[in-house]
Amino acid sequence: MPVVHVALPVLLSRTFDYLLPPGSQPVAGARVCVPWGKQQAIGIVTDYSETSELPLDKLKLIYSTLDHASLFSPSLWRILHWASDYYHYPIGEVLFHALPILLRQGKLAEATPLGQWFATDLGHATLQESLKRAPKQQQALALLKHRPVYRHEVSLLELKESALQALRTKGMIDLRYQLATPQDWRPSLAVLGERLSLNTEQATAVGAIRSQDEQFAAWLLAGVTGSGKTEVYLSVLENILAKGRQALVLVPEIGLTPQTIARFRKRFNAPVDVLHSGLNDSERLAVWLRARSGEVAIIIGTRSALFSPFQRLGMIIIDEEHDSSYKQQEGWRYNARNLAVLRAKEENIPIVMGSATPALETLHNVQRDKYRQLTLSGRAGNAKPAAQYLIDLKGMPLKVGLSPPLLKSMQNHLKAGNQVMLFLNRRGYAPAMLCHECVWIAECKRCDYYYTFHQNQHQLRCHHCDSQLPVPHQCPKCSSTHLVSVGIGTEQLQNGLAPLFPDTPITRIDRDTTSRKGSLEQYLADIHRGESHILIGTQMLAKGHHFPNVTLVALLDVDGALFSADFRSAEHFAQLYTQVSGRAGRAGKQGEVLLQTHHPDHPFLQILLQQSYDAFAQHALSERNSLFLPPYTHHIILRAEDHDNQQAPHFLQQQRNWLETSQLKDDSLWVLGPVPALHAKRGGRFRWQLLLQHPSRQVLQQLVKNLLPLVSTLPQARKVKWTLDVDPIDS
Ligand code: ADP
Ligand code: ZN
Ligand code: ZN
Repeated sequence: MPVVHVALPVLLSRTFDYLLPPGSQPVAGARVCVPWGKQQAIGIVTDYSETSELPLDKLKLIYSTLDHASLFSPSLWRILHWASDYYHYPIGEVLFHALPILLRQGKLAEATPLGQWFATDLGHATLQESLKRAPKQQQALALLKHRPVYRHEVSLLELKESALQALRTKGMIDLRYQLATPQDWRPSLAVLGERLSLNTEQATAVGAIRSQDEQFAAWLLAGVTGSGKTEVYLSVLENILAKGRQALVLVPEIGLTPQTIARFRKRFNAPVDVLHSGLNDSERLAVWLRARSGEVAIIIGTRSALFSPFQRLGMIIIDEEHDSSYKQQEGWRYNARNLAVLRAKEENIPIVMGSATPALETLHNVQRDKYRQLTLSGRAGNAKPAAQYLIDLKGMPLKVGLSPPLLKSMQNHLKAGNQVMLFLNRRGYAPAMLCHECVWIAECKRCDYYYTFHQNQHQLRCHHCDSQLPVPHQCPKCSSTHLVSVGIGTEQLQNGLAPLFPDTPITRIDRDTTSRKGSLEQYLADIHRGESHILIGTQMLAKGHHFPNVTLVALLDVDGALFSADFRSAEHFAQLYTQVSGRAGRAGKQGEVLLQTHHPDHPFLQILLQQSYDAFAQHALSERNSLFLPPYTHHIILRAEDHDNQQAPHFLQQQRNWLETSQLKDDSLWVLGPVPALHAKRGGRFRWQLLLQHPSRQVLQQLVKNLLPLVSTLPQARKVKWTLDVDPIDS
């Protein structure tokens, strides 16, 4: 067949036709270099045919073939095509997204030498004793005597670059660049670390998963933080690895802690690779290649690790499955958890989704028998559940937002030598600044959104478009110099706490303090070493970090979450609350959780505190059901934005008009809009949306499929920026 269809990384929902030079026959899934306008481009062969929509003599020849074999396993190939269709996103973009950057750029799919630290003969002969006064060097040398360490592992293993350089100067270690020699980990596989003896629920869960580990099965492993889910993962992986198969472990974006990785590495003497944001492009390609050749046993990574091409994938684990970072929020808006279930089905292997606070969607899938639930109800070891109290803020005098009972409790916990964690989901000094005379409020003109006051930088910053300006000396309206800030952010909390707890080290973790690469890891390590006693943070601090010495957790302001326009905010609040309260008091220390609110009688709070997350979830699900909201119905949002607030609503209105006349329209279809999006103005653009809701995914998909050809013919399609979000997680 002479015509070859090539997917290119462009935002057009089609492939492009080329002819083959004699003698070349690239397979589907291989990259080719093709003429593209006046330039050349890398594309991926998707298919062949006899004919083309264009006359054959108009087609160009491909320049060259880059791969002899497909870069995609058959299952990944099917999933990516399915996903392109389901998310209505161009196949070229989807296929390229699934490849490491170097392969997108046309680099050959073969290994390159990587930097690796190793102990020299001198290093091996050096006694650990002699480095007593340089503990970091001592630690690094001990590890390097045991095994060489790739440069990209240095930070994850908590080694210090300066210590390595010092050891190198002493001639005890050196750096070499070499091709990793492929090694088969299977013959020597052994469990290194100590296995804990599982409690009854853990043993039941492990038994259930193991009994069906050669076929597709979707498990929800529900268990509070500290109930021993990770121990269950490790136990079931033992069997998978023993069969010579590989495993993929997905974690949330900021849940990738050195402790988690260390636990996997300590348990098995098999290669564990980590896909994290600190890797450079060659290191990413190296991991991709090691997955494909079967050299790596386990890959731990965030969302996009899902697209790793395993040779013998045997199991997928998703930790904190409810986490919103599994949904990509720009470009191709896929949901990695849902695609992972699909991948498990395609590969006919089990998938285990773990969470202390399962997503309502996941619980709904359990109710419908699509997933099976395994529960760990207690905390492993001896940790007792934390005691929980509501503090009614009405009429209370507050110091930097802290009520007297909270301050008292902080003192008690600190006196006992423990750590205290305070949550406030607002970074900056204060969420707004206004004029005391005329009530002018500093507002970002591009966003219709209040500026946040950042005192340390002496700036006003818009948290929507990132624009910033110096704090004005005078009110621009009445020239008064009496400008005041209102509300409390994490920065003010930190400043205000210092005089109240003068001898107590405080660490703040939010997007401002952790913007520098590596700083989050640094702070977390400080906390673990006990160098900080009061921890302040936004929800960033909530995710996946285990601090055994934290015995008091307080949520300073829960009212914002109770009264939100987004129907998911109660779910997200309940998850945050349950996650952070699960952090309080481990390792045999009684924990305490305090919530400050003006609405202690709110039914959600009552159910959550007096019963459980589970009770809350059942309550929320029945409410969603009666309101015809997801997961009982499905959503697709069409979004459009413009500069003049005219084109976008018009553009969406035309789509609405078309939908009204569609043959597929029935009584169950609900179309909302066009309406301005939440925070409609952002970065000088006006954002509008059209929400489609239907109980049947198929109907909704077909409607959109029929609608899209029309959309691209609308004159506004070129003037507005529009996107489509299937199964959105924000509205
Ligand atoms: P999760 O992943 O649910 O947060 P972990 O697996 O990390 O829970 O377990 C929490 C703590 O309890 C860890 O310190 C772990 O070593 C310990 N642990 C887990 N299972 C057991 C067990 N069966 N016996 C004793 N300790 C356990
Ligand atoms: Zn004024
Ligand atoms: Zn702005």
